[in-house]
Amino acid sequence: METVKLRNGIVMPILGYGTFQLDVKDVRDCVLGAFNEGYRLIDTASSYLNEEEIKKAIMDSKIPREELFITTKVWVQDAGYENTLRAFETSLKNLGLDYLDLYLIHQPLGDYYGSWRAMEKLYQEGKVKAIGVSNFSTERLVDLCMNCSIKPMIDQVECHPFLQQKELRCVASQYGCQIQAWGPLCEGQKDIFNHPILVDIAKKHHKTVAQVILRWQIENQVIVIPKTKQRTRMKENMNIWDFRLDKEDQEAIEKMDLGYSEIINHQCYTTAKWLNLYKIHD
Ligand code: NAP
Repeated sequence: METVKLRNGIVMPILGYGTFQLDVKDVRDCVLGAFNEGYRLIDTASSYLNEEEIKKAIMDSKIPREELFITTKVWVQDAGYENTLRAFETSLKNLGLDYLDLYLIHQPLGDYYGSWRAMEKLYQEGKVKAIGVSNFSTERLVDLCMNCSIKPMIDQVECHPFLQQKELRCVASQYGCQIQAWGPLCEGQKDIFNHPILVDIAKKHHKTVAQVILRWQIENQVIVIPKTKQRTRMKENMNIWDFRLDKEDQEAIEKMDLGYSEIINHQCYTTAKWLNLYKIHD
């Protein structure tokens, strides 16, 4: 497993397992399956309502805590200083852990500056090894970096061949902020697995399109957390260490960038509205 060193020296796997949109009843078995395939980075969020199932998988796996890298996120409903401190304790308890590896602000909505001050406190107290944000566009990220004491170590954003986040990747690196891709396989949308450019590259390397996409991301130093319910695909997504894309492959994939998302438009007021209205507890 290749790793990435965050700005504060914390080392994390460059490839992990995402748990969004898994049926809650499948989460324990899927995460255990991922552990068996060699995944050690697990990505969840309080809003996925599956932290307690992940706790079961962690306990049943018997993998030493220090070998795992567990990420969760604070939801919009819990934005603000006190709320975030409370939400953190709830997530920690749900996951059965006494520290987190990475804690992220899920969305740049609500009093997320208050949340960030809470994240800084949790980090300084050693309750979380690294802190970061998610879905922060370039200007949100820069604004936060210019108005905080500890800058985010990670920005987890939608990133795949149709949305390559070139500007964000460049600006984030100026602040020592690592990009992590959610939806690294474009959630399987836009018929991505049959895209002719990717199919040609996959044939050339005797790999699958999913492997080419994931390889392309890690060669660009982007952390990936593909989700799959299927054990064979967990194996497939992990088997990306024995080939390299060449310059022509990189250039061809670069041409696929649309520069905008067809999955979610964070710049739209209706998105801000429904994310604010989505409640995960009373
Ligand atoms: P994704 O990983 O890009 O794609 C998942 C889809 O691809 C599923 O339909 C899966 O189907 C399919 N798939 C996986 N591996 C495949 C393969 N080798 N061949 C063919 N199909 C394959 O999408 P995602 O789940 O949205 O993103 C990954 C993770 O990022 C999430 O699970 C979550 O942890 C995180 N995330 C974060 C945010 C955020 O706001 N921060 C938003 C979304 C996601 P099967 O399951 O049927 O295999």
